[in-house]
Amino acid sequence: MRYVYETAAYGPDPIRDLYWSTTVPSVSLPTLNGSHKTDVAVIGAGFTGLSAAYHLGQAGVDVTVMDAQHPMFGATGRNGGFCCLGGGKISNARLDTLYGSDQRQLYRQAEKAAVDLVDQFISDHDLNVDRHSNGETLLAHKPKHAQDFPALQAEIQRDYGVTADILGEQELRQNGLGGAFHGAITTPIGFGLNPQKYASGLLQMARTKGAKIYANTPALRIVPTTSGYDIATPNGTVSCNKFIIATNGYSSEDMFPWMRARFLPVQSSVIVTRPITDQEQTAQGWTSAQMAYDSRFLLHYFRMMPNNRFLFGMRGGLHYTKRSNERIRQKIRHDFAEMFPAWRDVIIDYEWSGLVALNRSETPYVGEIPGYAGGYAGFGYHGNGVAMASYSGALLSDMVLDRIGTRPNPKAFQHIPTQFPLGRFRRYMLTPIYALAQSVDL
Ligand SMILES: Cc1cc2nc3c(=O)[nH]c(=O)nc-3n(C[C@H](O)[C@H](O)[C@H](O)COP(=O)(O)OP(=O)(O)OC[C@H]3O[C@@H](n4cnc5c(N)ncnc54)[C@H](O)[C@@H]3O)c2cc1C
Repeated sequence: MRYVYETAAYGPDPIRDLYWSTTVPSVSLPTLNGSHKTDVAVIGAGFTGLSAAYHLGQAGVDVTVMDAQHPMFGATGRNGGFCCLGGGKISNARLDTLYGSDQRQLYRQAEKAAVDLVDQFISDHDLNVDRHSNGETLLAHKPKHAQDFPALQAEIQRDYGVTADILGEQELRQNGLGGAFHGAITTPIGFGLNPQKYASGLLQMARTKGAKIYANTPALRIVPTTSGYDIATPNGTVSCNKFIIATNGYSSEDMFPWMRARFLPVQSSVIVTRPITDQEQTAQGWTSAQMAYDSRFLLHYFRMMPNNRFLFGMRGGLHYTKRSNERIRQKIRHDFAEMFPAWRDVIIDYEWSGLVALNRSETPYVGEIPGYAGGYAGFGYHGNGVAMASYSGALLSDMVLDRIGTRPNPKAFQHIPTQFPLGRFRRYMLTPIYALAQSVDL
């Protein structure tokens, strides 16, 4: 397989020290051998693929899921667990220009529907996911960012129909949000969860609906046939009528030529501390269960989990090499200590990284693959896929079933992402962007 980053980024190394894996039992799944027939083949067993498989199984479709490694191996099993609005980076102004105000509104409704979908999965299936936080809090890292909050509050009211709560700098500590911040705005949509507990629930739900799920089964090629497609794997073939590509940031350049250069994988890194005592929480002034992020362009995301371990994440490096990893290791510790100085000596028990995917359209792509009737793909959630990838899987199943679903499905999701320049070297586009962002964020 040809990848954008160094091959080690796609192996076990980044998740040697993954906290979530210590919280769920591993599931042993078979490898696909020989020739199989199925209605729909799903490539990739993360939130996108598992949600699609569940919805298709529920509709009585025969579905086969294959993952190159195992379910949850990709970003799904290693994210920060923020089930929140997002999925794209596109601004309201750009949505208005490209698609009109009705479509902009539909787009924002889809973001909210994505969070509602996860909420519904959890309650309908009684999933224990260590849920906490009432919505998501944005913290101003500069005083001028706090000045923008009233305008943002009005936009949130219009887009999502909810009232965001604003706190001034003096009120942060008494609300348990003490740190190097100048104000906060909380949108009461979303919650924190343990992503592997949630994804394990999805996996179980899909299997219960009859989905066949294979591990260590990379799709190598997709070949059109007279009746559909043959998907070649190392030890067999899956003949299907329709297929869904759900490989997001872990997509290779050569498995399916259409995907090549249409997504930009970007690394994100996370640390998790040992449990922080009540006394230490009080010393820092952070006692809140809110999931939060800061107003930097290269933002940090963080939350105190129900067991008092603190999770802190930020962007990763442009390489997966010893040197680059060491630089990120130091940077994440430096930023954590700067923002939460009372915890600078708290031991970090876990640390890992993974790949998210960006699209040039700045929106997720959820749709049919041009020139491949019955071929679909969902990818490009811009680092916010807990809710949106789950939703994308649901939308893709509607499309496969030829159902005009009731879920908001904005035109922006079918905007075919054009290819990034520089081919396999496209990550280097980020060098000047990161440098500029770092200076703006100072
Ligand atoms: C460190 C980190 C923190 C994040 N934090 C958050 C967060 O807090 N909130 C949020 O909303 N989002 C977050 N995200 C993003 C979110 O996790 C992703 O958007 C989401 O998991 C994407 O799901 P997916 O199923 O599309 O892809 P993935 O979960 O990446 O799954 C892709 C799967 O495809 C498989 N695959 C690849 N190639 C093949 C092949 N040829 N054949 C078969 N299988 C293949 C891979 O093995 C992998 O299992 C984070 C991501 C990272 C990396």
